Amino acid sequence: MTINYAAAETVEDFKHNLAVVEEKIAAACKAAGRARDEVRLLPVSKTVPEERLFNAVAAGATRLGENKVQEAKRKWQNMREATNDQLEWAVIGHLQRNKAKDVAEFAAEFQALDSVRLAEALQRRLEMVERDLEVYVQVNTSAEESKFGLDPQDVDAFLDTLPNYPNLKVQGFMTLAIFSDDSDRVRTCFELLRQIRDRALLTHGDLIGSGLLSMGMSGDYELAIAEGANCVRVGQAIFGSRKYPDSYYWPGAAGTN
Ligand SMILES: *Cc1c(COP(=O)(O)O)cnc(C)c1O
Repeated sequence: MTINYAAAETVEDFKHNLAVVEEKIAAACKAAGRARDEVRLLPVSKTVPEERLFNAVAAGATRLGENKVQEAKRKWQNMREATNDQLEWAVIGHLQRNKAKDVAEFAAEFQALDSVRLAEALQRRLEMVERDLEVYVQVNTSAEESKFGLDPQDVDAFLDTLPNYPNLKVQGFMTLAIFSDDSDRVRTCFELLRQIRDRALLTHGDLIGSGLLSMGMSGDYELAIAEGANCVRVGQAIFGSRKYPDSYYWPGAAGTN
């Protein structure tokens, strides 16, 4: 499933790529009988330098996803003035507790909540800076050792603890599907997340609100939309192929948070 995406450099490039992805999202929504506004596109800008991100912003991006908090923080610092503090950041990758302070400081959204101790650390830091944070509970739906996220059977007990952390505004659930050319196996991951969400709506309806699903990336977002995604996190199809293989950016590989 290695597709070569051309690098986007100019505002025009970004407008073009965003339009292409937008068209596919719209088509996937239509095919699934879903309204277009049920799905949010989160552009994922990891590894892309600030100079190019300004062009993505000029093309319409208002919130960007990053999987490493240090990189996200650097970009936030370097871009906030020129963007009038209007550009928002979503941290979507695994976070160590000792970095909770950074996320609390600048992120609008955190999609990889996967432990009580991390929730505690985030709550404490958010109180100190008097901020709230939108969070998604990350679930490991592929049963791969290398993936972060709660095991499906631990989700219920985890949700029980979240009312203790009122500055965490729970939006729903996030997952990374298995990396596979076999779309049935990918689909199974998305289905599992949806089932977990459907169950949580019954058991923890007040806590999880509308229970959104963040799932789907460049290679599988159309499938994710068919399975109910509300947020698709798309990097390479917008910014161009990354230099290193995905394994470099994911847990288990060198260089994760
Ligand atoms: C990088 C990343 C994505 C986007 O992947 P692409 O292949 O660039 O679309 C989505 N989610 C997470 C957690 C990521 O780290």
